[in-house]
Formats: sequence, structure tokens, C-alpha cells
Amino acid sequence: MLSVLLYQAEPSKKKEVYICNSPNGKRFHYKENCEGLQNCTHKIEKTTLKEARKAGKTRCGYER
Ligand SMILES: [Zn+2]
Repeated sequence: MLSVLLYQAEPSKKKEVYICNSPNGKRFHYKENCEGLQNCTHKIEKTTLKEARKAGKTRCGYER
């Protein structure tokens, strides 16, 4: 009889960040409810830190 190992997925090590999907959006945010995101009039998108960096985004000034 085969024992089925229930492999528990490790918590993702990818850091998730939020970006404002606007042409002027140059920041990424760790917090979805960040002050900086409240000004976002476009869609807020969830992405990974890696992707945000790749897109040339820098860390939001409110979260330093
Ligand atoms: Zn922020």
C-alpha cells in the first residue's frame, strides 16, 4: 500500500508587493493599505518584489 505523503507547500519565499498600475507608478509597496497607495487612481496590482524591481520600481517613501 502506498502511503501518500501530504506535502505541505512551503510558505512562499517570494515577497509580495503592491503596485499602482498607472503610467506614473514608480513605487512598490509592502502594505496594501499603504498611504502611498491611497493616492492611486488606477488599479492596484499584486506582484512580487522581483518583478517590481525588474519594472524599475522603487520602494515607497512612506514605508522607510
Ligand atoms: Zn507604500
